[in-house]
Amino acid sequence: MAPYAKTGGLADVIGALPAYLGQAGHDVRVVLPLYDKVDTSKIVLEAVGDFNVPLGAHAYAVRVFKKTGNSPTVYFVHCPELYARGRLYTSDNDEHRRFLALSYVALFICQRFEFAPDIIHAHDWQAALVPLLVKTLFAKDPLFRRTRTLLTIHNLMYQGSFPVEYGADTNLDRYSDLFHQDLMKQGRINFLLQGVLYADGVSTVSPTYAKEIQTAALGGGLDGLLRARSSTVVGILNGVDYDEWSPETDRFIPHRYSASNLSGKEHDKQHLLAQLGLPYKSGVPVLGIVSRLVGQKGFSLLARTMPDLLRRLGFQLVVLGSGEPALEQMFASLQRAFPRQVCFYQGFKNDLAHLIEAGADMFVMPSVYEPCGLNQLYSLRYGTVPIVHRTGGLADTVQTFSPSTGRGTGFAFEHHDEAGLRWAIQAALATYRQPAQWSQIVQNGMAADFSWQTQGRLYELVYKRLASS
Ligand code: ADP
Repeated sequence: MAPYAKTGGLADVIGALPAYLGQAGHDVRVVLPLYDKVDTSKIVLEAVGDFNVPLGAHAYAVRVFKKTGNSPTVYFVHCPELYARGRLYTSDNDEHRRFLALSYVALFICQRFEFAPDIIHAHDWQAALVPLLVKTLFAKDPLFRRTRTLLTIHNLMYQGSFPVEYGADTNLDRYSDLFHQDLMKQGRINFLLQGVLYADGVSTVSPTYAKEIQTAALGGGLDGLLRARSSTVVGILNGVDYDEWSPETDRFIPHRYSASNLSGKEHDKQHLLAQLGLPYKSGVPVLGIVSRLVGQKGFSLLARTMPDLLRRLGFQLVVLGSGEPALEQMFASLQRAFPRQVCFYQGFKNDLAHLIEAGADMFVMPSVYEPCGLNQLYSLRYGTVPIVHRTGGLADTVQTFSPSTGRGTGFAFEHHDEAGLRWAIQAALATYRQPAQWSQIVQNGMAADFSWQTQGRLYELVYKRLASS
């Protein structure tokens, strides 16, 4: 949950959706681990309860803190044994228990504080056993009589698949017939799969991705089950927190600007390049990348295309990200080969992410698949033209510019291959050299609205439908 703990888009959603819902009059409570990464110096925490959480042969003593102050209510689950690992997600052999504990504590909190939720909104595999818990061990508690569950899949490739022996830690031995039997015979249990089976509703973060996860290509082995439940699978795009991400008010950029006066953007570009030690030359376009550097993001396409494009077309490229060593090395070697054109900043740096959105002319997202994607939405707002692979949320939010109609907000290539990326970058650069067209595409993007006011309402409709089912 941004700003407390963040690795990607999920955090932005949990930072913004509950806030929207709170403003819309709902009583929203968020439960998340008190990771050691959470900066507690900036929040006031009040201890509100101690819990004992048995998980199979293990037991954890947990203290719950409530964040005081503005809505929404946030409960932080304090258990250093589970959450002080220096990072949010691990491959440790108790990973399943780290999030089973979270799931149980969420339900215990409801009981302790007599909070009867109409909806429990569980996110990703980490919370995906909650629907099954509500329908089994907690079913006798009248508190949950009217509770309906919604499971949101932020990225289907992270499923929480574990050896079947770990099943004992779920405390659901008595209900083992409710676990996927074929999979158990293969020696596995899969948290996300169980969520897909037992949540009252399933959603994901864009309409196109909602369709794609029902295909063998992007279904991650769950496509059959998702197809079987297809009437309950919906796609709702993530909204943008425009309080955080708007060039008019952004506190991380030195020169603020707006659609009606873009002069600050050029100054931000100069500032960005100066910060990164790259020379500025008027008229030379800057391409930006801010991303986790993992296979999903499709950067392997750049390895063979970029050197040639950089040489021939003379643009500059700034990259912020960290992740897989092979991808980090690829960007590092691009920087070595083109020291005046390329800067690779390895790391996670929010203020630089903002500055890149403001200072770059174009933003590159060649994702193999992309459930929603946030950076292209930020880019649109900052007048930074997105160049994307037409998949998932990228397909739903970026339309290729057509000079004849003047419509479109970016450049989207159809097939995930080098020719596709090459075409899109060349088309973007050619349009950049046509100031009237470029101005049109920038204005189109800046006028697009992906606010939580719009997207939050769609969630409310889903909640209402589930609550009355
Ligand atoms: P994902 O959730 O798959 O990582 P999204 O595009 O949905 O991708 O969200 C990425 C979010 O994480 C954005 O808010 C982006 O600005 C941020 N982000 C990713 N990498 C970095 C980084 N190296 N430094 C700062 N912010 C980053």
